[in-house]
Amino acid sequence: MTADDEEFRAEVRAWLTEQLTGEFADVAGLGGEGREDEALDRRREWERRLGAGGWIGLGWPVEHGGRGASLAQQVIFHEEYARANGPGRLLHMSEQLVGPTILAFGSAEQKRRFLPGITAGETLWCQGYSEPGAGSDLAGVRTRAVREGDEYVLTGQKVWTSLAHVADWCFVLARTDPASARHAGLSYLLVPLDQPGVEVRPIRQITGTSEFNEVFFDGARTPVANRVGDEGDGWRVAMGTLGFERGVATLGQQIGFRRELDHVVALARRNGAFDEPELRDRLVRAWVGLRVLRYTAVSTLRSAGSSVSGLEASLSKLQWSTWRRDLGELAVDVLGEDALTVGESYGLSPEQTLFLFSRADTIYGGSNEVQRNIVAERLLGLPRG
Ligand SMILES: Cc1cc2nc3c(=O)[nH]c(=O)nc-3n(C[C@H](O)[C@H](O)[C@H](O)COP(=O)(O)OP(=O)(O)OC[C@H]3O[C@@H](n4cnc5c(N)ncnc54)[C@H](O)[C@@H]3O)c2cc1C
Repeated sequence: MTADDEEFRAEVRAWLTEQLTGEFADVAGLGGEGREDEALDRRREWERRLGAGGWIGLGWPVEHGGRGASLAQQVIFHEEYARANGPGRLLHMSEQLVGPTILAFGSAEQKRRFLPGITAGETLWCQGYSEPGAGSDLAGVRTRAVREGDEYVLTGQKVWTSLAHVADWCFVLARTDPASARHAGLSYLLVPLDQPGVEVRPIRQITGTSEFNEVFFDGARTPVANRVGDEGDGWRVAMGTLGFERGVATLGQQIGFRRELDHVVALARRNGAFDEPELRDRLVRAWVGLRVLRYTAVSTLRSAGSSVSGLEASLSKLQWSTWRRDLGELAVDVLGEDALTVGESYGLSPEQTLFLFSRADTIYGGSNEVQRNIVAERLLGLPRG
């Protein structure tokens, strides 16, 4: 850590502390996985405050509203954010997915038009990839976009679209060549959601909240100028987006994991579960596992930078999602029989929410089975199944 980095850490910490113990004290710790419905309006205000403070798009070039911050400084920001118990980020997909994609693949005009809304904390984006027949097998996308003059007209259905019910825009993978199959003939389109041809239906989850949605396109329109990359080259752009997933946010995410583990350990100490050898053994293993996650993430980021390779991303995803799913199971085992009942109006305890939501960790962003296929083929050289 250089002296500049230490100074930067002090600046981030002071700013976050001032905001999260002052004007935004009411949103500290709210939102996030399994609790996305909490304080939505205030969290949008918080995103604007982050934007006004210059904390969104830290690593982006200065001419596009960023600070050109180093990788180390981006990691510091995420660490301090987690330490300060900052609220769940609503603009995660805006800042971490579509923003970097536009920077890497977008035209000068698209950068000028779309990036300022993100760095200002204004525009909330969602990811329109998955469909009822295209999840792990994303190349099966069937949503069509037909060109009419200088617009595309979209017809089809997306599913599991996180935050679509509150998002302004969606980055959509659609088939622009009707005669094409699989990876060819797809295009990456930026589509405004506030229009007559779009219907968003929230899906109620087992956690009781609705974080994701079905999105129906029936004659929705977007200008051809909103296509990122060439027509038919959407697969390459879409895969580029996935390369940005997690990246520098991983270390901040692990501080959140540490907080969850500390919570489970404290509960175990309080209710006597810590004295049961089997549970104590699992708690220690969880602690060790988290250290391993951290060392792996640090060394991956050191060697790879903000965009990690497919294989490294697969290994990391497999590792952290399995760790957190196991932590969810451990949390309810530590809770004991209280885990079997819920409070009034389906009020779940933090352990129950952790248990239920962490099942999703091994599915989204590429399921564990799919990650294992990638590791088997690319690292171990095993034949394709
Ligand atoms: C919380 C959450 C948020 C999400 N947010 C978004 C979002 O914002 N935008 C978006 O586009 N999508 C989103 N998704 C969707 C997610 O990307 C898909 O769920 C995921 O890709 C799996 O696809 P699927 O659900 O269609 O399952 P399927 O692909 O049908 O898989 C079903 C089962 O079969 C297994 N399987 C599939 N193929 C293989 C194979 N080749 N070998 C071995 N096993 C296989 C899978 O591992 C899984 O266990 C989200 C999902 C979750 C859970």
